Amino acid sequence: MDGKLMDNDISHVVEADRAHVWHHLIQHAPWTGADPKADPRIIVEGRGMRVWDQKGKEHLDAVSGGVWTVNVGYGRERIANAVRNQLIKLPYFAGSTGSIPGALFSEKLISKMPGLTRVYYTNSGSEANEKAFKMVRQIAHKRYGGKKHKILYRDRDYHGTTIACLSAGGQDERGAQYGPYTPGFVRVPHCLEYRAQWDLSGEEYGIAAANAIEEVILAEGPDTVGAICLEPVTAGGGVITPPEGYWPRVQEICRKYDVLLHIDEVVCGLGRTGTWFGYQHYGIEPDFVTMAKGVASGYAAIACCVTSERVFDLFKDDTSDSMNYFRDISTFGGCTAGPAAALENMAIIEEEDLLGNTVAMGDYMLDQLRALQDKHAVIGQVRGKGLFLGAELVADRTTKEPVDEKLAQAVVGDCNAQGVIIGVTNRSIPGFNNTLCYSPALIATKDDIDQIVSATDKALTKIFG
Ligand code: PMP
Repeated sequence: MDGKLMDNDISHVVEADRAHVWHHLIQHAPWTGADPKADPRIIVEGRGMRVWDQKGKEHLDAVSGGVWTVNVGYGRERIANAVRNQLIKLPYFAGSTGSIPGALFSEKLISKMPGLTRVYYTNSGSEANEKAFKMVRQIAHKRYGGKKHKILYRDRDYHGTTIACLSAGGQDERGAQYGPYTPGFVRVPHCLEYRAQWDLSGEEYGIAAANAIEEVILAEGPDTVGAICLEPVTAGGGVITPPEGYWPRVQEICRKYDVLLHIDEVVCGLGRTGTWFGYQHYGIEPDFVTMAKGVASGYAAIACCVTSERVFDLFKDDTSDSMNYFRDISTFGGCTAGPAAALENMAIIEEEDLLGNTVAMGDYMLDQLRALQDKHAVIGQVRGKGLFLGAELVADRTTKEPVDEKLAQAVVGDCNAQGVIIGVTNRSIPGFNNTLCYSPALIATKDDIDQIVSATDKALTKIFG
């Protein structure tokens, strides 16, 4: 780590943070009051797979910046330089105009997404999803007198933090205190076979889980259902990989009832599962694909809602007074730093074959975590794809009773103390699970993975014996 940074008065930074910053996703009480029990954690610097905190302590980051984002790792000067050069040339212009990096990145992105043609820029995953929801609603108004407006979403999936996204959110614990919600969003069952809802297995299970979507469409009335929004591999809901047979049947059902298929790739894109996008493992042909975190690996804020030409065409109209265009704007969708960073991010993934590394290291890590499962009865199931893996902790393998949330947190805390940052999903979900979550940068090596797995091993031994 750069020693100069520690010359700064870091204790002043900590106190400024403690006094004025409202951190995401955390209870602040232990940090505040006359006698605080802990300091907020401040990450000061990063290189490759590693970050350093305010105390100068080194951490191996197994969660890519906390939430599946820094896919190409820290300290990428070529991304920083591209952003710097672009900012000096033109930082921003928005409205109905374009930009050079915006045009070039959309061309590059689309070259990896056969069947899709249009990129709508915005700046967060939630907002990208809202754009798709709005397009679906506008299509309903244009073509179906407003009737085919309902949007289906799945239990355990997450699509963002706004009220409409929470209305499409399958994790009740996240939304419990923020209602009332937006009407027109309808839930379908999750597809996690480990927590089975049907007495079937493998492909039959996958088909049954997809058929459950058809049942909801029929119950609601196919003429009222405009779209379904799904994560290709569910992230925060428990790292849920879909069973065999699930996706082909989902696609079939969407075609049968003319339901637009919206795939939320905010976590899986770009590269996280070993293909550019998670849906590309399953032969799906989506109408909308939304993405955010890994688009520029966190070096700049950028998100996109990508659509097919079929969707785009529905918004074209030659009459000069037409109000039928997509009447939407995103102020920071006009920042040029995002696509400039994203272009370099994609170039790095290609030149360093990070998709290939993700497949190889993902397989290796899956094997290592499965070996850990043989050793620790508390691991009920290991699942995931590429460098997007989870280990679900259970108090009892037969009943699959979830482990106490505090114990799952203790595993994360112990890994942290050992200098390895891992995550945990699904806190406090009655009858559901606590899943340790791993998403190292796509540059991870075997040594990095060994260190992550060994820290987990030690933590599990310490906490569960
Ligand atoms: N979709 C998924 C699958 C996500 O995991 C997230 C964020 N965790 C979002 C959407 C929302 O993205 P953002 O936080 O950028 O709004």
